[in-house]
This record gives sequence, C-alpha cells and structure tokens, in this order.
Amino acid sequence: MPMIADQLPDSLLGGLLEKADDFAVGTVKAGRGGPFAASLHVYDLDARELIQIGGMAANAVLETGMASAHAEDRLLSPENVRMLKDHLARKRGNDIAVILASSGQSCPACHAKSEVAARVLMSENLLPSGRFIVTYGATYEDTKNTALFNDEIYHQDFRRAPPERLVKVVEEKSAGLPDDVDSFFRAAKAPAALIARGGQVLATGRDCRHDDILATAEVGAIRQACARQKREGVTQPWNLDAVLYTTGGDIGPLCYAECQWANVTKVVCLGLQSHEPEAPGIDNRAFYDLMAAGNHRHNQAALVVLRQSPFSNRAQKEWRQRLDDIVKQGGSLESILYNGVGG
Ligand SMILES: [Zn+2]
Repeated sequence: MPMIADQLPDSLLGGLLEKADDFAVGTVKAGRGGPFAASLHVYDLDARELIQIGGMAANAVLETGMASAHAEDRLLSPENVRMLKDHLARKRGNDIAVILASSGQSCPACHAKSEVAARVLMSENLLPSGRFIVTYGATYEDTKNTALFNDEIYHQDFRRAPPERLVKVVEEKSAGLPDDVDSFFRAAKAPAALIARGGQVLATGRDCRHDDILATAEVGAIRQACARQKREGVTQPWNLDAVLYTTGGDIGPLCYAECQWANVTKVVCLGLQSHEPEAPGIDNRAFYDLMAAGNHRHNQAALVVLRQSPFSNRAQKEWRQRLDDIVKQGGSLESILYNGVGG
C-alpha cells in the first residue's frame, strides 16, 4: 500500500503550513502570544476536497494560564472533535485522511494529544489506521535557535530512566497523606486526581472524557489548578510547583507531559481506582514508550508525522526580533520564555 504522503498533492501540506505561519506572524505582531499556529482538516482523497475544522488556532498560554495551551491543544477542543467526528461520519466509505498542520514540531504533550485523538477516531471506526497526519515546519532545533523555546529537553526527559526524569512518579499507599488530600480520596468513588502544594489542595479533577477526549482526571486537576492561579492573579499561573495525586495505579505520557509544562514535580499513584488508559487500544506504558520514540516511525503509532522542508518560519523570526528589542531596552525574557519543570 502506498504511503499516505505519496497520495497527497505536493503543495497541500506545505500550503497549510505557510498559512499557519502567516497566522502566527499576526499573533506575534498583535502581542497575543508565542510564534506558533496550527489548523485541522479532513481531506477527501477521492474528491480532492479539503475541509477545515474550526478556525486557525494559536498559542493561548497567556489567555488560559496553561503552559500547554499550544495551538495543537486548542484544535482538539471538544467542539472541534465533535465537528471532526461529524465530518468523518459523513465521509464514511471515502478515502479520507485527517491533517493537523502545525507551524512547529509538537512538544510531547501535543504529540500525545494528537495520538489520543487519532486513536479515539480509530476506535470509533471513523478513521482507518495510518490516516491521521501531523505535519510541521519548524523543528525543535529551529525553534530553539530562532524563537529561543526549547521543547527538546522535554522529549529527552521522556527517554531517561525513571529515577533521572524531571517528574518523579511514585506508587504509594494512601497512608500518610496530608489530611485534606486524604479526606478527598476517602470520598472518591470514581477515578479522581488532586493537585496539592505544601499539603494544601489547589484543585481536583474527574474523568470527563465523555465530553472532552483529553480530560482525564489528572489533566482536569492540572487545568483547574492553573485556572485557579490565573483567577487569583498569580504572575505565572501555569507554574504550579506542586504534587499530583491520582487514584490510578499509573499515569501515561499525556499526564507526564502536562506535569512537565505545569511544573508538577511529583506524581503519587495511589492505586485506589482502575482508570481507563489515556488512549483507547493501548496501555499507558506502551503509549509512553511510543511518545519516547518521538517522531521516529514507530510501528504502533497511530499518527503519521511528516516534516515539511523548506519552511519559511517567518513568525519565529518576527518573535525573535521582539525578544531582541526587549533585551536591547534592558528588559528580562525570564517570564516570556517560561519552560516548565527544570526549564
Ligand atoms: Zn505543545
């Protein structure tokens, strides 16, 4: 069977990335956020028809208070996923592909989210395997050299042995929990998670994946904690410097990567409830290994990741100009270039 990439018109993916780059230039010029944008599409290979799902998405870290509210994350909103499913159901029987075009190479959190989306669509028989394409322009290296963001460290962290990783994941019995945490989990009748700092509960989460494919209990707790800090006017709401407790017996790569971004330095798995794995059809351990392998073609990956080169990368150049101007005027880049745990 020919590779899906060989069946797409030459200019299709490159054209989508140039449009994303254009949009990201606008985002930077307007001072709304980082130099990244992405778009989501259904492509009908029979009809040569491209259907865009939702609008163009940009980085929304400042707006949401979540350090992982990247363009790809925004595209996989509950509303867009519903639209995507509707279009795929209507196109059932046609030769179809889903294309997520992102101006920059996805960080591990976004990579995991796209993989979850691909597997959800496959598990509902809406998309055949090997038909969810993620294409990007700027590599980690380009983004590091031009925009000064370094996502590579997160991917490298995935590949380390557990004791050397930035986020410590431990299995513990519930004995010895801080009081607030203990009473929450004592009352938990379903999968649940909690974020605490210094024994104080910041936020809790429940599994809401019937509405939002990414909203595991753990991701929900992290999102709520960041939202709370934003409401309370904390300078870096995305920086939790906290511990995540979960009723589950383990976590997958989605939770791990969200912890990296939110500076959650420790995860305590209590093993009180059985949690559905983060992605359908794969257990959390195997899913983690897939993400550790990154873009290298992995025979179990649901995603097909394709880099487009050359890529003009105008948004990152524009962003860099802004950073250089800030430095020239004696400003600090520290809060602008926040990069999560160990960053
Ligand atoms: Zn990301």
